[in-house]
Amino acid sequence: MWIHLSEVLSAEGKEKTYTCEIGFNAFQTGNGSYPVTEKSPVSLKIVNLGEKRLLLSGRCSLTLSIPCDRCLEEVPQKFDIPFEREIDMNQTEEERIEDLDEQPYIVGFQLDVDRFVETELFLHMPMKVLCSDDCKGICDRCGANLNRETCGCSQEPKDPRMAAILDIFHSAADQ
Ligand SMILES: [Zn+2]
Ligand SMILES: [Zn+2]
Repeated sequence: MWIHLSEVLSAEGKEKTYTCEIGFNAFQTGNGSYPVTEKSPVSLKIVNLGEKRLLLSGRCSLTLSIPCDRCLEEVPQKFDIPFEREIDMNQTEEERIEDLDEQPYIVGFQLDVDRFVETELFLHMPMKVLCSDDCKGICDRCGANLNRETCGCSQEPKDPRMAAILDIFHSAADQ
């Protein structure tokens, strides 16, 4: 959804509130695309601070499905992000991008709400997602999900140096 900012910009102290549906169904990052499994409308307030500066505040909540770092099972990850950002409309688009190092969510006198939410999400993405703290992961030899099954190879040492020694031992035994 796009919001026209010209009305709020027309007078200092002017403010408007909006409720906006989130328009995207998947969140793209450099690491992958995560489906949005639940979302609530974004509540957004825009206040004219004077001198062509705007204050954007509000809250967005949504749930993304993100694979567990260890076993790759999809994990629902809930985000509830309060935000407050000042926007200087005196800046050109290029200056703003350089300043914030982010995708432009202001184009001309319009605010791209989806882009804005994506920008907030980027800042709140967890470094690591686990289905549970004691997730056993997948076997690095046969790919079995060790939370659900035990495979034969899980008995062997995990230490790669030990594994290499064992491999030599096995191939020597084969000859
Ligand atoms: Zn897991
Ligand atoms: Zn295995």
